[in-house]
Amino acid sequence: MSISGFEPNVLWKQFEKILSIPHCSGNEKQLGEYLLSYAKSRNLEAERDDTGNVVIRVPATPGHEGAPVVVLQGHQDMVGEKNSDVNFDFNKDPIQVEVDGDWLTAKGTTLGADNGIGLAAALGLVEAEGVVHGPLEILATVDEEVGLTGAGKLLPGFVKGQTLLNLDSEELGAVYIGCAGGGDTTITLPVSRTDAPAGTKSLIVKVSGLRGGHSGIDIIEQRGNAIKVLTRVLSQVVKSQPCHIAEINGGNKRNAIPREAWGGVMALDTAVDEISGVAANEMEKIKVELGGRESDLSVVLEPADQAYAKVLDEKSQGTLLDLLLGLPHGVEAMSYDIPGLVETSNNLATISTSGKGMVIGTSTRSSIVSALQALRDRISGIARLAGAEVKENEPYPGWKPDLDSNILQVVKKVHADVFGKEPEMKAIHAGLECGIIGEKFPGMDMVSFGPWIEHPHSPEERVNIPSVNSFWQLLVAVLQEMAG
Ligand SMILES: [Zn+2]
Repeated sequence: MSISGFEPNVLWKQFEKILSIPHCSGNEKQLGEYLLSYAKSRNLEAERDDTGNVVIRVPATPGHEGAPVVVLQGHQDMVGEKNSDVNFDFNKDPIQVEVDGDWLTAKGTTLGADNGIGLAAALGLVEAEGVVHGPLEILATVDEEVGLTGAGKLLPGFVKGQTLLNLDSEELGAVYIGCAGGGDTTITLPVSRTDAPAGTKSLIVKVSGLRGGHSGIDIIEQRGNAIKVLTRVLSQVVKSQPCHIAEINGGNKRNAIPREAWGGVMALDTAVDEISGVAANEMEKIKVELGGRESDLSVVLEPADQAYAKVLDEKSQGTLLDLLLGLPHGVEAMSYDIPGLVETSNNLATISTSGKGMVIGTSTRSSIVSALQALRDRISGIARLAGAEVKENEPYPGWKPDLDSNILQVVKKVHADVFGKEPEMKAIHAGLECGIIGEKFPGMDMVSFGPWIEHPHSPEERVNIPSVNSFWQLLVAVLQEMAG
């Protein structure tokens, strides 16, 4: 079917072209070549850097040459996901689309409306008749979906504009004005081991049934953390009975709230009933604290496959539990500017037991660079007090909401003119390319908006067709306003 008949025609024609070119993350070369050839066919200056990022420079419509340069930014790559019963090769097959009422979707695969529609809008402007704009730079980055690495390798001067419209958000009627930066910390606690006391047998204390979720987006819900629950249970257990920890493991990803954790312990046979009672009691208290959030939380004692010959000595066991009790998890601060936005948080994400000791991973996020560092410093400080070794990775930058931003005022005014109401202002507690671009190009004034896209990154991805026209109207009106 042809989608190029939809409105605005210039945009859908470009999107149809993009659908025909394979462009999953890491495989954007052909799409980059199309961008360059499109620019050439229109006598526009264009450049591709060594990373694959492309810039196309579009002169102002006559009489608006003195207007500020506006950067129109999107990413070239898409996520390639398909249903298992679909025979499709993302490296060579064009995306097949279908229309379902007001929605456009792909047949069993991701559609790539994220961010193909944004890119198509920028390209469509070049051909659109009657659109008034100042000088434009179309910036198409690569590898957004796999860690924002294309934006991370942009070189100074690649774009000259000081105002940027990111066309990669997915909610009509909302304008994004901020995102979180983040950094991971790895804590290694050296431990001393001793022979397991005679007469003890092994047990596994297992925490499961928690909801987990994305460590940025879902942290606001203050769900249970399996490592924290296990730590509290074990802390109560060791107070009541001699119980010797051999290992603790939990969580498997830095960016996921840990859903499961387990500890391997050695205890006297006669103590097992008492231990299980203490564990159940503590679990019930935690459930009450968590309200209705985690009704499936379960803490069970299971026999272990084999006995542990060695356990942590008393001092190491005490230090480990104190460290895990002390490390922060959850929301640290809410935003003052944006109601409902988490400003700073930490995910106590993983713990594993190795020969060297206990290895703990945390992931910290904040929309304010200094607040991010302050929380990471606190985590490091607590870890060092326990005698642990701390490694911090290089943080990626956030984007602090700027309510006085000039482009935000323009978008608000234009949105009210076109749609009769101001847009909702939003920010997310996760990474966006704007965070990185803001650091690469200091002083860049940015906002992000886009059409209505649902279920991106999955074969259910779909874009609302009328919303694309509304998105286009907003974009055109903003450029016209900026052209003066
Ligand atoms: Zn995207």
